[in-house]
Amino acid sequence: MDAQVLNDQSHPSNLREAHAHLPWLGRALDMLSLEGCGSAGEALDRIAVRAASARAEGARGGWVQSHSARVLGWREGRWFGRAELDRVTGETPTLAMSFDHHAVFANSAALEKAGIHRGTPDPAGGIIEKDRLGEPTGLLLEAAAFAIWGLAPEPPESARADQISRALDHLEGLGFSEVHELFAPAWLGPLLKQLNLRRPAPMRVDLFVPLEEIEAAHNGRSAWETDLLRLAGGKIFADGTLNSRTAWVLHPFADAPPGLEHGKPLMNPGRIGDAIERCGALGLGIAMHAIGDGAVRACLDAIQAKGQRASPGSRERVRIEHCELIDEADVPRFAELGAIASVQPCHLLADIEALRTGLRDQLHRVMPWRDLIHSGLEPGKTLLFGSDVPVVRAEPGDSIQAAVGRGRIGDPVAIAPEQAISEKEAWRCFARWAENGSQRW
Ligand SMILES: [Zn+2]
Repeated sequence: MDAQVLNDQSHPSNLREAHAHLPWLGRALDMLSLEGCGSAGEALDRIAVRAASARAEGARGGWVQSHSARVLGWREGRWFGRAELDRVTGETPTLAMSFDHHAVFANSAALEKAGIHRGTPDPAGGIIEKDRLGEPTGLLLEAAAFAIWGLAPEPPESARADQISRALDHLEGLGFSEVHELFAPAWLGPLLKQLNLRRPAPMRVDLFVPLEEIEAAHNGRSAWETDLLRLAGGKIFADGTLNSRTAWVLHPFADAPPGLEHGKPLMNPGRIGDAIERCGALGLGIAMHAIGDGAVRACLDAIQAKGQRASPGSRERVRIEHCELIDEADVPRFAELGAIASVQPCHLLADIEALRTGLRDQLHRVMPWRDLIHSGLEPGKTLLFGSDVPVVRAEPGDSIQAAVGRGRIGDPVAIAPEQAISEKEAWRCFARWAENGSQRW
């Protein structure tokens, strides 16, 4: 946490994490973390220890998965070699994922399981890096990375309760007493009911489920909802991400591959409007993933077309998640239409390089929180902060640093510094503003 920005040494408590993924966080906490490694050798040492214990467990040992590799921060500035990784892992399939989730380094045993060899072509949307002789180096990017990561076996059902408990402990330790889960699988509600959400201190959990599952979730919710746990709404995706150049942008990316100049729109306003209506008919809200300004505009157009304007206490609120780019003309529409902006300033810290290369003419429209507050969004009520953990860590100080400092600590580069908000405003975006369950928005 940043002493320059945060005057008080301790976290405020009673915070809301408005965008989290509890099952993924639970799994990530069980995996090996490569965060803070200073070199490839240090990462290999950590992996070697985990691989040795997997071997000791024999058949139950399974794969070794690790995450949070920040290779540009390693002394060598590059991944270890495949042979080096094989030397410490042997026959145990082993994967190491980069901190941004867009690259995975695999050992030979994992490549074998994936059927990747000399002749394997790149999958659509992915890259299998090869050396000069055509041999896979072990590095897989984008779709190729996701595919091999998905091959590792899911944790057994019996491990879920422990993993979710640890995820909740982790968030509680950071000062959170409310968490919004933005892609809840069907088993999560019933499992959370079994877990003690009263804990030492109560933890509120709101669940958003994939739109396709909203009716089923609605039909079953009376079996697991409690005063601390509820189904909040559906979740849809209007676009992709900035790092992969799939965010739907109004102005073309400076460096996009052919065909992705404006990113990848996933839903038009008509379909988004149908989704809003489908959730609203059940008395539920909706959370819409929209990172680029094109996707944000499509969501606002859809809300406008539906005449959606819910009262602050009702469940059928519409939220736009991420909003990393917002066109100036769209800023006032959030407050006008009663839409919530659920944002994660901490991503600015990880994305500075990607923003400066891909959006160099649009940097002034990046995360315009100052404009949103000025236009009438209220911190903690209609402007909510979260992290998207475990995509990045949930440490609230990161978002405070990004929202106030508009860049990394000690880095002279600030993105749209005129959009900085005060430290007090930033903490209020994390604050739960009412204890009354019906007015938690
Ligand atoms: Zn998310």
